[in-house]
Amino acid sequence: MNPTASVNERIQLIVKGRANESTCSPALAEGPWAFDQGPLGYGPGASSQDEIPLSTPRQGSLPKEYRDATEADLHERIIAAKKTLGERLVILGHFYQREEIVQHADYLGDSFQLARAATEHPEADYIVFCGVHFMAETADILSSDQQKVILPNLAAGCSMADMADIDSVEQCWEQLEEIYGTEPDAAGRQPVIPVTYMNSSAALKAFCGEHGGIVCTSSNASTVLKWAFERGQRVLFFPDQHLGRNTAKQLGIPLEQMPLWAGRRPLGGNTEADLQEAKVILWNGFCSVHKRFTVGQIEKARADYPDVRVIVHPECPMDVVDAADEFGSTDYIRKAVEAATEPTTFAIGTEINMVQRLAAQHPQHNIFCLDPVVCPCSTMYRIHPGYLAWVLENLVAGKVVNQIIVPETVQSNAKIALERMLAAQPS
Ligand code: SF4
Repeated sequence: MNPTASVNERIQLIVKGRANESTCSPALAEGPWAFDQGPLGYGPGASSQDEIPLSTPRQGSLPKEYRDATEADLHERIIAAKKTLGERLVILGHFYQREEIVQHADYLGDSFQLARAATEHPEADYIVFCGVHFMAETADILSSDQQKVILPNLAAGCSMADMADIDSVEQCWEQLEEIYGTEPDAAGRQPVIPVTYMNSSAALKAFCGEHGGIVCTSSNASTVLKWAFERGQRVLFFPDQHLGRNTAKQLGIPLEQMPLWAGRRPLGGNTEADLQEAKVILWNGFCSVHKRFTVGQIEKARADYPDVRVIVHPECPMDVVDAADEFGSTDYIRKAVEAATEPTTFAIGTEINMVQRLAAQHPQHNIFCLDPVVCPCSTMYRIHPGYLAWVLENLVAGKVVNQIIVPETVQSNAKIALERMLAAQPS
């Protein structure tokens, strides 16, 4: 692996037969517009095999001048548009974005850091969110009414977030209410507290706000679960089963008390007795990027580098988290690398664009992705400089395209759940 090349450059070299490594899809070498108009699906990358809901937003055709432009031309056009828009614009870039986008971002961070960055710029009329759909929704909820949040490519969703839709969660909730009732116990604790991961639609955040629940991130999931257990006898956690399981296990909850809720089956495929014993009911969602990491990859890293430090994201399956030396959010991983004072070999289990950037920024360390196959997130990949140039040049021309608007009723309840998260303090 060439630590100075971007992931996009690595993929181009692989497809041309000039690199001794592999990618999960040679189609990643093409512009994402090749898939936005094609059969409905997440497109090449880690989520390509996931089932996509019919309601998922689609992106219209990108004008030819942006599809045909060279990377250098797009780069210059983005810089020029940014200069013209000045303080009226703020560009946010997620850690998992391609390098060719990140270099134009005013802020780089995880989904919640970026949503907060948006709130720190009330002077900006336009917040261009280079990330995925639920992140732009959160920025719209937290930003002021006058600010417009723009997602450069509407096809940049998130397959994990799409695994829990509001109808299925409401059906689950009705069944749980039939089993547990709706009255609190003698200690005043509710029968169930809903907890949604930040990686979910605004409708689910609103559901949590309305039902005494809360939002969590991968950085504060343990604090949030403790908050929920102070107020409830058990938790319904969605959409990511792995974050829920890894965090609950860390808090000492036995696996037998964490049934999996398979959406379409009665009682989620569980017996009433299982659910009576449950402490955390896990939604059957997962991230296809983090599901690629395996214990076998960790064993190989340890065989190749006996002193390796293995850090994985809590969206990885439990056996992978157990086999790693540490696990934590993207911000935890970044800080762990930055804090290492001696040259260290790091094997990291998270999205490859972030790992590649850490390797380029820290040449004193040997940093590599646990998964040897170059396979970025299918939807983060959809944000290409062509789309960024297109939305920015439209703004310069006074036209807002791809605005993300969360309806007012959803916003108010979602904000309640987000504010509970902000107020929850580690104990
Ligand atoms: S990395 Fe996983 S959780 Fe993040 S946007 Fe991609 S599919 Fe969704």
